[in-house]
Amino acid sequence: KTKIYHNLRPQVQLPSTNQPLSASEYAISLLRSSSLSLENTISFIDSSTDSRLSYSDFIKQVESLSFSLHNRFGLKTGDSAFILSPPSLQISILYFSLLSLGVIISPANPISTIPEISRQISLSKPVIGFATNVTSSKLPSFLHGTILIDSDDFKSMLTIQPGRVNVRVNQTDTAAILYSSGTTGKVKGVELSHRNIIALTAGFDKVRMEPVEENPPHPIALFTIPLFHVFGFFMTIRAVALGETVVLMERFDFVGMLKAIETYKVTYVPVSPPLVVAMAKLDVVEKFDLSSLTVVGCGGAPLGKEVSEKFLSRFPNVQITQGYGMTETTGGSYEDVRAEETKKHGSVGRLSENMEAKIVDPDTGEALPPGQRGELWLRGPIVMKGYVGDNEATVATFDSEGWLKTGDLCYIDNDGFLYIVDRLKELIKYKAYQVPPAELEQLLQSHPEIADVAVVPYPDEEAGQIPMAFVVRKPGSNLSGTEVMDFVAKQVAPYKKIRRVAFISSIPKSAAGKILRRELIDSIQSTPSS
Ligand code: ATP
Ligand code: MG
Repeated sequence: KTKIYHNLRPQVQLPSTNQPLSASEYAISLLRSSSLSLENTISFIDSSTDSRLSYSDFIKQVESLSFSLHNRFGLKTGDSAFILSPPSLQISILYFSLLSLGVIISPANPISTIPEISRQISLSKPVIGFATNVTSSKLPSFLHGTILIDSDDFKSMLTIQPGRVNVRVNQTDTAAILYSSGTTGKVKGVELSHRNIIALTAGFDKVRMEPVEENPPHPIALFTIPLFHVFGFFMTIRAVALGETVVLMERFDFVGMLKAIETYKVTYVPVSPPLVVAMAKLDVVEKFDLSSLTVVGCGGAPLGKEVSEKFLSRFPNVQITQGYGMTETTGGSYEDVRAEETKKHGSVGRLSENMEAKIVDPDTGEALPPGQRGELWLRGPIVMKGYVGDNEATVATFDSEGWLKTGDLCYIDNDGFLYIVDRLKELIKYKAYQVPPAELEQLLQSHPEIADVAVVPYPDEEAGQIPMAFVVRKPGSNLSGTEVMDFVAKQVAPYKKIRRVAFISSIPKSAAGKILRRELIDSIQSTPSS
């Protein structure tokens, strides 16, 4: 009777569970089995210094660093390492070295404050830190100290002649403790196993995006996403498994990104929605030759249909693929992987390999058929072990049969495509109705005078909550609050109307491109509205 959705693509064979195997060994074995020349293929390019590393040197440096870390500090399986750094070549090498030693990777946002870092450290309990000259002052002292990855000492660890490192990493061992974005409350430490990463990587190996053209150029990706967030973390491992060339930006800026696409003839950019908005709307885009670009892969937060249409009218030769995932599912679970899948505007794609899904009525717990809205539940090999140091949250997130409750309100169509309505926690409760802010934001994004927008609940005596819009006007626009409200009122059911508007200069967003609605809600008292 239960309605369970399975993936519709061919099943992917995973390595046998009891075979000792680290996620890095697995990714590198896929790379080696490809027909690429590892000497002649570039792995990572640091766009700030233009330094680059071939895949054969990448692998050598990973082995060398593993050997050094193992010998000098006796780092072993189950130890955890805290990482605080902007993206760099060294970080990608470090990730692979730590994974191969079975050392748990725990990376945080380099702009984290000391209290944020203390909380993260209390969860991951690191024995060693990796930081830069700039970020290290924020770290406490660790058993084995903090290593500066921009030091000569670190450089020397990359190039010694490596010997044998005798470690056994089981697939069930913890590979990483990644911090969720903290959008809905306290940041949680998500414990991911090597098996989780292997299962995700296996899917990428078998299912590739259909090339837009025949004999496509070697994929060159530009990472605009941070490497400490699950999106950038798994994309790094994916790139190595597939032998892609990755251009890293130490400090993200929009014009720098455009310049890098032009300079490195980038073919692929993984992004969060704010970047698609910027590429669709900003005039500066016209100043660069972006003709190498074939795919923009978007995930992490809702992308409106209007925005992707605007983007595609500017870049008719680029495909926008979407993906949906959470830190708790190693960043994956739904994605477009075939050209025809990208044609379902507004959908985030189809269920990944080896995964199962249900749409559950949040009130009755009943599994729902296609077309009906409910909470998305997921089960399968990419689902996390649990929240580290928070048994209560772990128990609340899983049901007794091992389903992960995503907290996202969604529906699945008859062809197995997933549509995200919004987070359950972020729905605005207007009288007896539920209003998804993401839907109103997408509508408002289509207004020609609106540069950016966020919708939040505003307390109201009679209705409980009313939808309120924070609007960033395009330069030169005199758009009024009434005009904003009328624009929406004409296109939605009465209970969804925007009933209050404030104009601001920018919408606060997280590093992964999520709107920080709580910051806006907290600011309401001090915001004059119209
Ligand atoms: P926290 O759980 O700490 O409150 P978070 O949920 O924002 O933070 P992440 O793991 O970074 O932390 O984000 C996962 C969430 O991002 C998903 O549950 C979903 O709400 C949202 N999301 C991810 N991809 C998409 C997408 N393609 N479209 C819409 N929403 C998405
Ligand atoms: Mg979450």
